[in-house]
Amino acid sequence: MRDFTLEMYGLLLAAVKKAGYACISYEQFVSRGQKGRTYILRHDVDNLPLNSLATARIEAREGMQGTYYFRIVAQSFNPEVIVSIAELGHEIGYHYEDLSLCHGDFDKAYDQFQKNLERLRVYFPVKTICMHGSPLSRWDNRLLWDKYDYKKSGILAEPYFDTDFSKVFYLTDTGRTWDGSEYSVRDKVNSPFQISIRSTRDLIQKINSDLLPSQVMQNIHPQRWTNELLPWTKELLFQNAKNIIKGVVSRMNK
Ligand SMILES: [Zn+2]
Repeated sequence: MRDFTLEMYGLLLAAVKKAGYACISYEQFVSRGQKGRTYILRHDVDNLPLNSLATARIEAREGMQGTYYFRIVAQSFNPEVIVSIAELGHEIGYHYEDLSLCHGDFDKAYDQFQKNLERLRVYFPVKTICMHGSPLSRWDNRLLWDKYDYKKSGILAEPYFDTDFSKVFYLTDTGRTWDGSEYSVRDKVNSPFQISIRSTRDLIQKINSDLLPSQVMQNIHPQRWTNELLPWTKELLFQNAKNIIKGVVSRMNK
């Protein structure tokens, strides 16, 4: 079976469930406290929002809730999809990139951040936000919070600032691999866990063998997860090319 298909994603969720994890949204994780085996389902909707509707439906069928972070740009921001995913019981959050869109103009970026948050709040009472990595931009979107405070906008938490990654194992499909930290420019955290994962099948086996910590944040980009062969091949070729570029940028930053 090919990796990064919806079937494979369904198998992954089934393994997580069988292992006794509660699959929850980031907002639930932040507001409920951390009890028992917890698996946060986070999704960065960078592109192709309909793919996110597909993963949201699979999760809802399993009785799971997660968080979908939408960007403000046209390839992500789709009100029909946002409403449909919210109706399935998931949380909607803002995947902000205002500082890079405003080319490092902090005041303009904060103004845009507030306006964009309100645009999203027309459809959902957004309580959490998460930065878009903008890997090819020189601006790290998180820098906005050196000068401003998102909590003043009624935001409870931002995963990169408000999660203790010494306790929560961070898993991301960035770069179309689960071992993507060497390819990622910004989507990475300081983690004490030494768990190497080569494929989704490998991840499933590790879950079945109880090799994962009791608290996990899984971040996926649903545009990568598709059954259709043509978009799947396109995503594979595109990510391989992009990983080469990001690998160079990442090494330059070290
Ligand atoms: Zn993103």
